[in-house]
Amino acid sequence: MIKRKDALDSVGKGWSPLIVCLYKMIDNLKVDYELDIHVEQVKEKFGGLRFYYYESNDGEHIENEFTEKQLLELNNFRSKVVAAEQISLHMCEECGSLGTNANHGHTGWIKTLCTVHAQMCE
Ligand SMILES: [Zn+2]
Repeated sequence: MIKRKDALDSVGKGWSPLIVCLYKMIDNLKVDYELDIHVEQVKEKFGGLRFYYYESNDGEHIENEFTEKQLLELNNFRSKVVAAEQISLHMCEECGSLGTNANHGHTGWIKTLCTVHAQMCE
């Protein structure tokens, strides 16, 4: 289980709002629906945010063990993770401004950066 602080430290500060929102949802799922989301890894890959986790309900993580209400909330959370990963492809990892997912400069690395940070990396 990766704590919020470590998740935030795993990628650039520009993506912090995305991670903060996901952890806020995780806290709510725990308190309001007795659902545990275990974050396993948060990282950048091909210039995009990757948020790996698994779900559990009292130690189990078999989908049909969830109640209908829990499943509804889980589906909402799953779609928010997908949305965060997609948004990160348009969000500068350094500062959170509108960014482009590309091979900036000649570093050989695909990153999502705004024009300012893309120029600084060249
Ligand atoms: Zn930037």
